[in-house]
Amino acid sequence: MRIEEMIAEVQQVLGVTVDGRAGPQTWAAIYARLVSKRIDGLRPAEALTPVDSRSEAQIATLQAAVRPMARALVHKAATAGITIKVISGLRSYAEQDALYAKGRTQPGPIVTKARAGHSNHNFGIAFDVGVFEGNRYLGDSPKYKAVGVLGMDLGLEWGGNWKTIIDQPHFQLRPAWADDLTERQMLAELRTRTAAGAPLYA
Ligand SMILES: [Zn+2]
Repeated sequence: MRIEEMIAEVQQVLGVTVDGRAGPQTWAAIYARLVSKRIDGLRPAEALTPVDSRSEAQIATLQAAVRPMARALVHKAATAGITIKVISGLRSYAEQDALYAKGRTQPGPIVTKARAGHSNHNFGIAFDVGVFEGNRYLGDSPKYKAVGVLGMDLGLEWGGNWKTIIDQPHFQLRPAWADDLTERQMLAELRTRTAAGAPLYA
C-alpha cells in the first residue's frame, strides 16, 4: 500500500476530505482523536494477542500499562501492511550511562543527549520500533511516518512530532498526571517515583 492510499484510508475513517494528502484538516482530526484515545478503548485482540518473539522480549521490559499499546501498534501496522518490531524498551540507568559515554569518554559517535534517569526509556514508558521488509531492517523509511500516525491514534506520543530531536522510531505513553508538564518536569517526577518505588501511572 502506498502512503497516499494509506492517508486516504485514514481520512475516510476520520470523516475528513479524502485527497491522500495530510494537511491541516487531517491533522486536526488526528489530534482530536488522539487526546481522547486511551488504552481502555483498545480491542482485546489488538492489545493482548502476542506479537513476534523479538518484540515480545522488549515489550516484557515495559510498564504494564504500555505493553498492550506496543502490541496494538504492531498489530495495527501489520493490518496496514507494514511490518514493525519493537527493538528497544526499558534501559537501565547503567545502560543509559554507557550509551551516554559513547562519543564522549568512549569511542564512536554521540548517540544520545540523555544521562541516566533523563530518558523516558529508563522508566519503561517508552519503546522504539523498527520497520522491516522481510527480515531486512530499514533504518530509514517513509513508513515510519505512517506508523507514527497509527501510534498517535492509539494515544501514544510519537517522537516524530518532537521539535528538537526528531525521533521517528520512538513512542511513549505519557502518564495522565504529566499531561500539562514539560518533558523535563515529567522526567523529574518519574525519577522521584522510581526512587520511592511508587507506581508510575497511578
Ligand atoms: Zn526511543
